[in-house]
Amino acid sequence: MTDDTPDEADGTTSEADTAARDPPATVLADGGVEETTIDPWGSSTIADYRKLFEEFGIEEFEAILGDVPNPHYLMRRGVIFGHRDYSPVVEALANDEPAAALSGFMPTGDPHIGHKLVFDEIIWHQQQGADAYALIADLEAHSARGIDWATIDEHAESYLLSLLALGFDAEEGELYRQSDNRELQDLAFELGSNARFAEFESIYGFDSETSVSHMQSVVTQMADMLYPQLVDGPKPTVIPVGPDQDPHVRLARDLAVRMRYFKVTKAYASFEADAAQRELIGRAYDALSEDIDSDEMVRCAAAADWLAEYDAAPEFTDAKTAAVDKLSEAGKEPVRPRVRFFHRHGADDAFEAMIDAIDGEKRVYEGHIDAFDLDFEAAEELAREIEVDTGGYGFIQPSSIYHRFMTGLTGGKMSSSIPASHISLLDDPETGYDKVKSATTGGRETADKQRELGGEADDCPVYELYAYLLANDDDGLVEEVYEECVGGERLCGDCKEQAAELMESFLEDHQEKRAEWEEKLDELDIEFDSSRKRS
Ligand code: SF4
Repeated sequence: MTDDTPDEADGTTSEADTAARDPPATVLADGGVEETTIDPWGSSTIADYRKLFEEFGIEEFEAILGDVPNPHYLMRRGVIFGHRDYSPVVEALANDEPAAALSGFMPTGDPHIGHKLVFDEIIWHQQQGADAYALIADLEAHSARGIDWATIDEHAESYLLSLLALGFDAEEGELYRQSDNRELQDLAFELGSNARFAEFESIYGFDSETSVSHMQSVVTQMADMLYPQLVDGPKPTVIPVGPDQDPHVRLARDLAVRMRYFKVTKAYASFEADAAQRELIGRAYDALSEDIDSDEMVRCAAAADWLAEYDAAPEFTDAKTAAVDKLSEAGKEPVRPRVRFFHRHGADDAFEAMIDAIDGEKRVYEGHIDAFDLDFEAAEELAREIEVDTGGYGFIQPSSIYHRFMTGLTGGKMSSSIPASHISLLDDPETGYDKVKSATTGGRETADKQRELGGEADDCPVYELYAYLLANDDDGLVEEVYEECVGGERLCGDCKEQAAELMESFLEDHQEKRAEWEEKLDELDIEFDSSRKRS
């Protein structure tokens, strides 16, 4: 089985390649100072979220918010700010069709309120009808962070207790540890045969010092993202994560494509053309076919003449030259729209099955088939169907949604290593209360100034607490805090007291539920004592 698909001829660029061109995926802040990185194992701060749209192609969540059924408050409040190709998931949820949500947790410390965002996102998708998966990324924790197995075991249990306490339905959903999931590891092995070390170098900065198991943990994560489709077949799948995980998402999306048996493209003649060339040839075809009788055909030579005179945009200059050359060479061959199935992987029986399955006029070539009576969407569906029927995965590229990182209670970034900057879901409620009471605010130097100028809610970690967690589904409360703050009616002392009390009761309630689940953990099909040696 060889990949004879001319990717380069298609003019497409892999998403991970895009990442590779921006090594090491660093976003420069306006002042030209490196403030923000997109690094899955590095700092979790993003200086300017807009740059993620411009430089990394993350799409704005706001543009699709109106299509999302019962959007979660994190979506409504802009905490979930971006996505990659989330529309197929939205469509599936809206139409009661199969969809999945999956996210993983590296058990490197206690779960905290930043992790709660992801817990909530998975649970919300489950409540909207998606199959939900939560995994403990223990192989990654061991290989990338060097955490020992005893520590991993302890934290793994704690993460799952919080997830369950927040409402994850373990009977409907699936929980697993990477190290215990044989199917996942088999898939990782298969994906690894389609991943290259050069990619890891350019995407993650891996070098000769990088351990082999760290590399293996990357393909395991790729397998995680595709795992829901391994269980029940292809379906739109969303991975809710922080934007620092975007390099993983891009690589998983690329690998999903590389695993496909067939690549489907549009075509107009027997020769190959990339996407830009096809676009121009399509314009020539549309223009010329308007002026001919129904029994006549547009010829490649005529299309070449038309295109040579066509005023293409500057970015199409090279594509125009190449398209004119190809059309001229094809001479009298008719220009006829079609879809083309390239056979990339899979045994010959997949190719034979595809030939049989195509209705209407078709032409079979060495390694590809042209179909003249199928539209592109139907062709893609057929390609997936045949692939699954003949033993393939038929993966749909995973989608992702991205949430903002919470600001630390002490200002700056929220860090697990600075206890005062974050609230652990295991903090006793009084400690949670005290941490909020001691938090930095966006308040003015004096109460008088606050009354006169209003507070700076947009730069206030306490306001974030209301919006991200404390107000829960109550948009009215978030609005009230904001308006009263910026209008000078709310002073920080009272505001923090209210937030601290809400935090205290949230922690009380959460920990009660954790305790209830602790009693029932045996009922879950998951092993918390790793059989691995304590290395
Ligand atoms: Fe922050 Fe509340 Fe003070 Fe406004 S009043 S700055 S929201 S603590």
